[in-house]
Amino acid sequence: MGAEFCVLCGRSDVAIADGLCPDCYVKNNPLVRSKERPTVVICPTCGSRRIGQHWEGAGSSTLLTPEDLAPFLEPHEEVGIRKVVWTETGSNPLQRELEGAVLVRFRGTERTVLVKLIVKVDHRNCEDCSRRTGHYYTAVIQLRSEPGPPKESARELRERLAGLWDRAIPQARAEMRKALSWREELPEGWDFYLSETIAARGLARLMKTKIGGTLKESATLYGRKDGRDVYRVTLCLRVPRTAMASVPARSRQGTDRRDTDSAPSRQGHRAADSGLSSNGMLKR
Ligand SMILES: [Zn+2]
Ligand SMILES: [Zn+2]
Repeated sequence: MGAEFCVLCGRSDVAIADGLCPDCYVKNNPLVRSKERPTVVICPTCGSRRIGQHWEGAGSSTLLTPEDLAPFLEPHEEVGIRKVVWTETGSNPLQRELEGAVLVRFRGTERTVLVKLIVKVDHRNCEDCSRRTGHYYTAVIQLRSEPGPPKESARELRERLAGLWDRAIPQARAEMRKALSWREELPEGWDFYLSETIAARGLARLMKTKIGGTLKESATLYGRKDGRDVYRVTLCLRVPRTAMASVPARSRQGTDRRDTDSAPSRQGHRAADSGLSSNGMLKR
């Protein structure tokens, strides 16, 4: 060693590879490139990302995050990325222009390289959410009280019914809760809409054992698919007045309402909210 020097600048006090010092090498070889046509597909309702043919990460932010951008950086084979600080340089409704200050380690030294990225952000409802926004359902659970002399107002009855439901719902299996799309308040009780009939039956039976009452199932023809009749199932659970007495009419504060998070009425609002503003997720 010691005899090696950079053919461009003559330095010999640093590691020389292929006749070049790191500084001269970097001038002609980008250490980090951006991938072609980067696109992020985000569900504005639940925050999941489309990865290939699948949707992943429901519950993530509906805004573009540094985690979304990291896969679009292609480091040189001898480069390790230490840190990236993103700055937004421009945006329009269809794409975001960003500059990443990428701290890299290359041949024993650290340096910062700037990478420009123009990211297309595609807001599209995932399969689960589009089913729900489309008011897609295959089954309804009707929660009603048994007929009897009306001692209470309809509103108090509904609150008691909702209290019973909310108290029991955490005991339902995840796939049952996931199938719950939205609930509607009616003068005579509640209608819970579900996207899976088998899960709906399971949930209705579970509620019957937890709450009590009688369960009746009926089906209505609502269309044909692939040459077969398609039915929607209605499961009516009538709760005895005695069970309802165990729940105060105003017991619903603080109960788990996650099963109605995707109520269609709220969805439009949330989708609009998610917009394209960086809102602190990315430094402007
Ligand atoms: Zn040099
Ligand atoms: Zn979604």
